[in-house]
Amino acid sequence: MSRAPWASDPAHSRGRRFGEPPAPTRSAFQRDRDRIVHSTAFRRLVYKTQVFLNHEGDLFRTRLTHSLEVAQLGRSIARSLRLDEDLVEAIALAHDLGHTPFGHAGQDVLHDCMARHGGFEHNLQSLRVVDCLEHRYADFDGLNLCFETREGVLKRCSRAQARHIDSLEPGGVGRRFLDRTQPGLEAQLCNLADEIAYNAHDIDDGVRSGLLTFDQLRQVPLFARFHDAALREHPVLAHGGRRLLYESIRRMLSQQVYDVIGATAAAIEAAAPADAAEARRAGPLVRFSPAMRAASTELKRFLFRSLYRHPQVMETTSRARRVVRELFDAYVASPNEMPADFAGSPLRHRAVCDYIAGMTDRFAIREHERLTGQRMF
Ligand code: MG
Repeated sequence: MSRAPWASDPAHSRGRRFGEPPAPTRSAFQRDRDRIVHSTAFRRLVYKTQVFLNHEGDLFRTRLTHSLEVAQLGRSIARSLRLDEDLVEAIALAHDLGHTPFGHAGQDVLHDCMARHGGFEHNLQSLRVVDCLEHRYADFDGLNLCFETREGVLKRCSRAQARHIDSLEPGGVGRRFLDRTQPGLEAQLCNLADEIAYNAHDIDDGVRSGLLTFDQLRQVPLFARFHDAALREHPVLAHGGRRLLYESIRRMLSQQVYDVIGATAAAIEAAAPADAAEARRAGPLVRFSPAMRAASTELKRFLFRSLYRHPQVMETTSRARRVVRELFDAYVASPNEMPADFAGSPLRHRAVCDYIAGMTDRFAIREHERLTGQRMF
């Protein structure tokens, strides 16, 4: 199917920071996707926490499987809307590269540790990974990705940070936060695919872990609707078991995908952008219908209250926070405990922060044990 006029076009990319000849057989966005898949940071996602720590069970989502699910949902929607699937896939696979070990607990602690040294934020760190921290190419640091991929990776950014980025890269990926315009439609789509993915898989992981029950979930209207539909069609599922959960989630996912396609196609038609640049100026176009928006937000709030703030999750979280805090202090006091690239940096706190942010859960736990003699998990 041909690319829509409002889709990002790899042949008209705003380009890479360091000029490179085009690849003979791949589009610029395909090449970005391939570079991301081959990066070290991408491989580490397999041992990074989404909600449940990696060692808590083999079947829980990790950052890697989460990113693959975002890419799958994103591509599926992109094909219907005739957006660039390769760009969607590249952004989806890179969107969580900057996440610390131990999920949000790790990020919060690093932000505290860096309070007087420029702070820490995982979206900015994802950009930092693809721009600076991967060392694979002779001619430049980072992966030298296209502008359109980088703007998608920088999903959120404060105005102060945006001004800083814009001073280093005038008119670059920080600009839209100052001008209050949107990123390309592919980037907008990845944000929504992210939300659809984690809402659905956190229900699954929540039930699998025993922290969420069907009775609780049936109080969430979005889930209840599909749960009841699955039971009506297949009364045999009333005997319980995981099939009822999967049948409910599957229906919920499909309905959300169809909803985004319908609402977004209508928004694009109303705005009638002539090209990708006009689509950026037209406000957020990739969206849920108002009813699905409300239902998804309600589900998100439920997961926040019942799962992310569950005492058992909070308990592992507090141990994880201690690991990150004590690692930070140990490396700041003895930078030579880090590999030479990091130990030799003149910006000691930033180097410590980058080193810890790149760690997998299990490596952080091992390093913490090596440096403090304590076993936290
Ligand atoms: Mg994500």
